[in-house]
Amino acid sequence: MDYTHTPDPRPQVTITEVGTRDGLQSEPEFIRTEVKAEIVDALVAAGLTHIEATSFVSPRAVPQLADAQAMLAQLRRRADAHIAALVPNARGAERALAARVDEMVCFVSASETHNQANLNAPVAVSLANVAEIADIARGRTPLRGAVACAFGCPFEGDVPVSAVLRIVDAYARLSVDRLTLGDTTGMATPPTVARLVAAIRDRFPALRIALHFHNTRGVGLANVMVGLDLGIREFESSLGGLGGCPFAPGATGNVCTEDLVYLLEESGFATGVDLDALIAVARRVEQVIGRPLPGQVMKAGPRLRKYSLDDARRAVG
Ligand code: ZN
Repeated sequence: MDYTHTPDPRPQVTITEVGTRDGLQSEPEFIRTEVKAEIVDALVAAGLTHIEATSFVSPRAVPQLADAQAMLAQLRRRADAHIAALVPNARGAERALAARVDEMVCFVSASETHNQANLNAPVAVSLANVAEIADIARGRTPLRGAVACAFGCPFEGDVPVSAVLRIVDAYARLSVDRLTLGDTTGMATPPTVARLVAAIRDRFPALRIALHFHNTRGVGLANVMVGLDLGIREFESSLGGLGGCPFAPGATGNVCTEDLVYLLEESGFATGVDLDALIAVARRVEQVIGRPLPGQVMKAGPRLRKYSLDDARRAVG
């Protein structure tokens, strides 16, 4: 008998790490390509199997990610790690395919104003772009459809559920493999998460939903708990809580991956992630960007971390 592959009886949750894409895109200082690749390799080594590593948006719009192709080429690609990239249009999709991504992510904002600011196009034009991307992806790589500002827009306020459903409907007709509901500027709350997920499931019961929260107003993990209660098993987060959105005023980082792993594991779910190894990567990123990250568990350590009395005496001062 082979005892080395005993399946974990706990329910599995898939975390997609978006730190080097969503997190780094607004960093003003260019981070060297090999450092980005080193971070992604370390995340995979820590047990993260799904990484949205970079974006093929215009280098003028996001100079930090102008090295997408080179960065992907430097990764130590492993069969057990799915490397995804964000693609804004057909050209980006062709470049992503040439870089052998395991998944492409297209995106449209549920808010006209944010879509114009982010993609420089009306929603209808972006949906036509997505159809072109889907044509390119078909039979070659899985495609995930993301809805930005699904829970609210910094310019328009509340976003009607019908605006989200319009985009989800287009994605469903294009047979996207997975849907991400993005809370781009941290406006989601437990009731709005429950309402939107229910509305989408009502119309598209077979669609796999992932939730992407930002912790802008401190309720990111509360929203994750609502998703878990609803049976969602896929969440997106960034190490250390790195991030923001250059096209959305007041945006801050994603839900923090270490804090998410801690919450999930302590709540009886399996993530496959080595928390200590992940904390080490988050500390490395703090060095790289030269400032502290908002993650909590990276500062306090896991719950059963034991301090020496000497540590306690030092803390008094
Ligand atoms: Zn985001």
